[in-house]
Amino acid sequence: MNTNDTTNKLDFIRTIVAEDVKNNKNDGRVHTRFPPEPNGYLHIGHAKAICLSFGIAAENKGGLCNLRFDDTNPIKEETEYINSIIKDVKWLGWDWQDRLYYASDYFEQMYDYAVQLIKKGKAYVCDLDADKIRQYRGTLTEPGKNSPYRDRSVEENLDLFTRMREGQFPDASRVLRAKIDMSHPNLNMRDPVMYRILRATHPRTGDKWCIYPMYDWAHGLEDSIEKITHSICTLEFENHRPLYDWFLEQLEVFHPQQIEFARLNLTYTVMSKRKLLQLVQEKLVKAWDDPRMPTICGLRRRGYSPQAVRNFCTRIGVNKFNSTIDIALLEHCLREDLNKTSPRVMTVLHPLKVIIDNYPEGKVEQLDAVNNPEDPAAGMRKVPFSRELYIEREDFMEEPPKKFYRLAPGREVRLRYAYFVTCKDVVKNDAGEIIELHCTYDPATRGGDAPDGRKVKATLHWVSAEHALQAEVRLYDHLFTNQNPEDVEEGLDFKSNLNPNSLEILWPCYVEPTLKDAAPLTRYQFERLGYFCVDPDSTNEKLVFNRTVSLRDTWAKIQKAQKNKK
Ligand code: ATP
Ligand code: MG
Repeated sequence: MNTNDTTNKLDFIRTIVAEDVKNNKNDGRVHTRFPPEPNGYLHIGHAKAICLSFGIAAENKGGLCNLRFDDTNPIKEETEYINSIIKDVKWLGWDWQDRLYYASDYFEQMYDYAVQLIKKGKAYVCDLDADKIRQYRGTLTEPGKNSPYRDRSVEENLDLFTRMREGQFPDASRVLRAKIDMSHPNLNMRDPVMYRILRATHPRTGDKWCIYPMYDWAHGLEDSIEKITHSICTLEFENHRPLYDWFLEQLEVFHPQQIEFARLNLTYTVMSKRKLLQLVQEKLVKAWDDPRMPTICGLRRRGYSPQAVRNFCTRIGVNKFNSTIDIALLEHCLREDLNKTSPRVMTVLHPLKVIIDNYPEGKVEQLDAVNNPEDPAAGMRKVPFSRELYIEREDFMEEPPKKFYRLAPGREVRLRYAYFVTCKDVVKNDAGEIIELHCTYDPATRGGDAPDGRKVKATLHWVSAEHALQAEVRLYDHLFTNQNPEDVEEGLDFKSNLNPNSLEILWPCYVEPTLKDAAPLTRYQFERLGYFCVDPDSTNEKLVFNRTVSLRDTWAKIQKAQKNKK
């Protein structure tokens, strides 16, 4: 894995592309595409493919990248998915201009190409059913057997194929197959199916067609029709490349180069649309955009910035062998970006009341707070301070152990942007739980420094009880407890690894009043607590925030530990 984003070394795909441009292959054009099947929402793995194909186009002068829906399977595909995919690719920041295409727009042309193959004696109509086709196919160690229909005449094939299209035969009763070689060492080359009969209403072509092209047949044609130069896909298609090439060679049409790379796998994450759909359908998550989902819309709702996702895709690089990336790296890229871009605010998630006994009742001061220490241009804001405050429950201990420097009886600490305060008294309820603290403040320390130079060991965040707004805060943990969700005992599936504590809801939390009209998806750093964003469920009546990620950078820790070992 390449984790060094400053390296200038090109990955193997960019090397191929650069070489082709240098040699003026395809007249020096670079034209890629991203071809999702609209049968689910995009996930972070797709983001890798998107950033690769759109990225390579953007890096080359005049380079183009198409967005193409591979909508050849009418059964699982839906308009909802198409709309979500468009939204997600845009959100990631990529632009296909006017080149949004649908494989279904090429059905007529694909049909004509199939007729050409039949005329060349390179395709035939086969009446074997699916089981028989499988039996005749042979195995990796045994050659297949020719279908008894393999030697039909061109005329008969043309007639049958026309009638397949006209709807004269029942579903699945016949297929069109390529005539290649039933003893080819690559099973994909053993007379693969090109068309099946299927009566299903297609979201775009309606009931116009009752035969639908298979992926291997369709995909290369789509690339060729769009004059794609580099058709970048994942490793599982490596064994399909000979077939991709065969079809295009037989047709003598424009021939893009297929290049395969390893798909992204992440720890604690499932990355298959089928499994993600299961989580949604079985209501194990709220929806496709549940902030625990690895979908792009889930990441967006969680508070990820597009830049963080793109930086991650750059960091992981591209290679040819499958591996699993530590999710801590994704979170590291997220923190890196959010640290630079998120305004800071003060909020209290687990409130503990503090009363400043010597602060005048009814008095309110507006104190200056820095919006983003990483970005001076972000400026300052005012936060109200008053006699009654909330601090974080865990910032106080009645009997502090060694190394606990925060508030404790008799101890003085700094309230950020405000004053030094000293804890004088602890009030408990009948159950013995601490319900409020009484403190005194030193008016001379306004702004957070003591004129006599005395030091305190801790700075706490706080909010003014009277001015703070109540909010619901949703904390998220990994969706799965096991690094590899597929690692299960016999008879169980990945869902047995779901983390029962992946969502924790806190109410009431208190946030500073500047958050009053915060728009959905706005990102903040809650000081000392982490990065948060406004959930779309948030209303003026009830603010709702998602914790995007905590401040603790486990990736940086791992890196440090590895360095120390060396
Ligand atoms: P899934 O296996 O999750 O259902 P898919 O491969 O069926 O995904 P497609 O819509 O066909 O989904 O994918 C569009 C493109 O995204 C393809 O080129 C595919 O190779 C690529 N892609 C899908 N998953 C990943 C991944 N985990 N990492 C990198 N690229 C991916
Ligand atoms: Mg697919």
